Amino acid sequence: MMRLSLLVFVAFTLLSSSHADAEFNPIRQLGRRSVGSDDYKVNCQSFRVGVEANNLRDWITIPTYCKSYIKTYLQKNQYSLDVEAIAVEAADYAESLQKDIFLKDIWVFDIEETLLSNLGYLASSSVDFGTQQVYATPYYEWLTSNATVVPAILELYNAVVENGFEIVLLSEAPESIGDALVQALQNAGFSGWTKLILKGDADNGKSPEEYKSAKRTELVNLRYRIAGNVGDQWSDLSGENVGIRTFKVPNPVYNRIWD
Ligand SMILES: [Mg+2]
Repeated sequence: MMRLSLLVFVAFTLLSSSHADAEFNPIRQLGRRSVGSDDYKVNCQSFRVGVEANNLRDWITIPTYCKSYIKTYLQKNQYSLDVEAIAVEAADYAESLQKDIFLKDIWVFDIEETLLSNLGYLASSSVDFGTQQVYATPYYEWLTSNATVVPAILELYNAVVENGFEIVLLSEAPESIGDALVQALQNAGFSGWTKLILKGDADNGKSPEEYKSAKRTELVNLRYRIAGNVGDQWSDLSGENVGIRTFKVPNPVYNRIWD
């Protein structure tokens, strides 16, 4: 009798715990979908996280069914909150880092969608929140005349300067728009950078990662130490000499600015 009671108790406990696991396990898998079939849809939040984590690569446009999700992400609070969280973390790191006594400590900032926001253009019918490809000529025309500041990154920029770092701006923008870009940066409140590196004729044909890696390597060869590196594309933060720490600004709209 006692053995029977024990068996009933154990069976009841196992059933209860498996029910609890099914109900409360936050990572239990959703119903499996067949990758590659026509009805396969990536959840839009999973798409965005995949982009930010560099799990999704070489994508060209966002899934069309994610347009309203991306629009809401950018235009409501979450994008601003995500940028602010990154800027605060980076500023804390800038404040705490021990300076190198032999090398010049610098921070590298990307410009497009890092210091300057082109959200007005990304929201226009030309890009339509990423359902269309981003092309360089209209993108930079808009950037040099209508760009707005990314406020949290301006605060980070100023904090980095106050902590004694030199600033290098490393952009894929062509040298031909240098003056207009400087004006746009100044209009947005940025000043005091040590170097502004733009893409010259000799850089044509290089991938974004190859171009930025080569420029960072030149800096390291000049005895700079890249303490921090901030950009919205993984091509800003991967390759050679990425820096001691990298900070990824969100950008779920485009993966590349096309020539
Ligand atoms: Mg950028």
